[in-house]
Amino acid sequence: MPLIYLDNAASTPPAPEVLEALTQTARQAFANPSSAHRLGAAGARLLEQARAQVASLLRAEPEEIVFTSGGTEADALGLLGAAEVARGRHLVVSAIEHPAVLRNAERLKARGFELTLVAPDKTGVVSPAAVAAAVRPDTAVVAVMLANNELGTVQPLAEIARAILARSLRPHLHVDAVQAAGFTTVDVRTLGADTLAISGHKFHGPKGAGALWVRKGARLGPLWDGGRQERGLRSGTENLPGCVALGRAATLCGREATARVQGLRDQLEERLRAAVPEGSPTVTNALRVPHIASFTIPDLPAEPVLHALEARDVFVAAGSACASKTRGPSHVLKAIGVDDRAAVLRFSLSRLTTEAELAAAVVAFAAAVAEVRAVA
Ligand code: PLP
Repeated sequence: MPLIYLDNAASTPPAPEVLEALTQTARQAFANPSSAHRLGAAGARLLEQARAQVASLLRAEPEEIVFTSGGTEADALGLLGAAEVARGRHLVVSAIEHPAVLRNAERLKARGFELTLVAPDKTGVVSPAAVAAAVRPDTAVVAVMLANNELGTVQPLAEIARAILARSLRPHLHVDAVQAAGFTTVDVRTLGADTLAISGHKFHGPKGAGALWVRKGARLGPLWDGGRQERGLRSGTENLPGCVALGRAATLCGREATARVQGLRDQLEERLRAAVPEGSPTVTNALRVPHIASFTIPDLPAEPVLHALEARDVFVAAGSACASKTRGPSHVLKAIGVDDRAAVLRFSLSRLTTEAELAAAVVAFAAAVAEVRAVA
């Protein structure tokens, strides 16, 4: 049986068009886009075309897009870059952020910032009232992700922005949209944010290529200085093949595919429940991105299940890839009160996932759970 890859929230396979753009640009457009000659100008044109494609995915203006080396750098630039130029020394961060936000917030704390973490409810959603209540006149940055990478829950960003504004406060609002972009509509105009991070490899784009949307007029400083590319916000010769491939990936995202993925995910959850009746979806009742299904089974270790699935050529995640090398439940699962002894498996789909793959994965899952139960 061919491999069944259901760990797309960790990374998606690049689309053939993306690989083509990547290799063709690397081979042919090797000149520096900042060079004054016509080869440089041709590279600069490719870069600007890619910028427009990424902007279009986010309903943004091209000049608001800063290319980065991925989601982590985009998060770091949004958070640290805003904190550096802000007057206040207080941060409000949701407790279920990716380490790209959480650990950088902790770095700021070590440099003298005060950090308030806002806990989610049991369904993995952060309440606008709780975020607004945590904001103070000296709050420099608020960071809340659009979609959580472990649970898929979508945070009510527009309401959060409105609740903060209702208090007549205007801290910088940074949004990690890495798990949302490409799988759900991300319209920066409706979110009330100042910066928003995306990453190519999460939506069939290249690894090591991402972007930060920076609202016109938002105050932000660079993380380092140098040749002042990307409007001075991100010095360094641009990764042109990566940017062009990212732009190509952005053009391939569509609503139709997203609706199909959601249908498959719902079907998967039903089948999982039928196959392993003692388990259930980790969160229900919350708005979620279409490609993530988190499933919890009480009183079972997660890692042996993951490896028993792997032995059957089915690839999933336990909690999240970033937490998988550490023992015990992730900070996200702890934050929503998942029992330490429960197995939480994340099945994440992509545009390439088929119904037949999911049907086979469920059969393998039931067998893997039974195998682990027999020895647990
Ligand atoms: N933010 C979220 C929500 C993610 O899921 C990830 C990747 O796992 C990142 C940020 C980091 O993105 P990258 O792998 O491009 O650095």
